[in-house]
Amino acid sequence: MSIEYRSPELLMTTRQDCLNLDAQDPLAPLRDQFDLPAGVIYLDGNSLGALPRATAARVQEVVHAEWGLDLIKSWNNAGWMELPRRVGDKIARLVGAGANELVVADSTSVNLFKALSAALRMVKADSPHRSVILSERSNFPTDLYIAESLAREQGLVLKLVEADEITACLDDELAVLMLTQVNYRTGRLHDMAGLTRAAHQAGALTVWDLAHSAGALPVNLKESDADFAVGCGYKYLNGGPGAPAFIWVHPRLADRFWQPLSGWLGHAAPFEFVPDYRPGPGITRFLCGTPPVLSLAALECGVDTLLAAEAHGGMAALRAKSIALTERFIHLVEERCAGHGVTLASPRDAALRGSQVSFSHPTAGYPMMQALIARGVIGDFRAPDILRFGFTPLYTRYVDVWDAVEHLVKVLQSGEWRATRFHQRGVVT
Ligand SMILES: *Cc1c(COP(=O)(O)O)cnc(C)c1O
Repeated sequence: MSIEYRSPELLMTTRQDCLNLDAQDPLAPLRDQFDLPAGVIYLDGNSLGALPRATAARVQEVVHAEWGLDLIKSWNNAGWMELPRRVGDKIARLVGAGANELVVADSTSVNLFKALSAALRMVKADSPHRSVILSERSNFPTDLYIAESLAREQGLVLKLVEADEITACLDDELAVLMLTQVNYRTGRLHDMAGLTRAAHQAGALTVWDLAHSAGALPVNLKESDADFAVGCGYKYLNGGPGAPAFIWVHPRLADRFWQPLSGWLGHAAPFEFVPDYRPGPGITRFLCGTPPVLSLAALECGVDTLLAAEAHGGMAALRAKSIALTERFIHLVEERCAGHGVTLASPRDAALRGSQVSFSHPTAGYPMMQALIARGVIGDFRAPDILRFGFTPLYTRYVDVWDAVEHLVKVLQSGEWRATRFHQRGVVT
């Protein structure tokens, strides 16, 4: 364990220091936007964001007034049809995209299918010999499964490599580089601009999954010159379980791409009810079917919790706090849990890390996490050996970092994780 180079300020951390940091934290009031249960330290906002206070009332309003009273008139009068674009424009502000460039629709998996299909089609139109989709072996499985299916359907090769091997594989066989910017297991952060530049130099296009970066750290899609991007609504965007996802395409490609799920709401004029498909302008052709209005109303409340940070320095300020939280967490775990077989599985360099910290344990990660959850510290477990902790700077306090580590120390020292009940696996881990 090497902690020599940690800043002196971290080496001396006490619970009182954490309370002082919370008292001085200009972002602290943003926590009041959430309904967090008492006695819980929630370190899983990277998997399911917490419930914003505004959501229940807003969804009630949509149900009772817009649906219940105004019925079908609400498609026009309440702007239901605009929701995919309206919420999309808000998310665009968080990921360095412009207005009319991003829409909310479908799930991340489905959007990945649409974006990857569109990118493949564009590349193959100019360079039919390009036959490789390149991704990272430890990418989130659904991303790989979608790519595998497309590769099989189109007679292409899905090539999976380690993160460090990516640049060496950017050659003239490559059609699309498809990566998740922040790895779901380790939290490792890719250099989106650098890899995109390298992929473009090799003649390929890029598809970026922002599931663990949108709302977690500053993302600059346009500055990074990315081609396509998708992202998740229920993680750092706090949209609620199964919230719809988003999709973006660079404006230079927006009127040129074709996507295979050519549903009526991506049509240039859905209410002309003509038999032949004509894609709508720009990003709107990524829409497919009827928008999920209740889910979109909830997602908008979630996205608004992040836009509220704009008055306090926005994503840059949230990122600074996220780094301060994760640095303290790593330092405290390594200092206080040494000798229990828990090893850092995230990059030590904060610049290479998203807003999560993962530790691995060779055999007992699962029961250790269950014992922690029983104590009210909610993280999650990712097979085979990862204890994962997400630090959502909107509502995680410095004192939560201290207290979570205190609980982890007790779980490890007491061996309480050995209890049988902590070894039974639920459907969702
Ligand atoms: C969470 C996550 C998803 C989720 O996909 P769904 O279609 O919403 O189930 C996809 N990709 C990555 C990288 C994720 O982290």
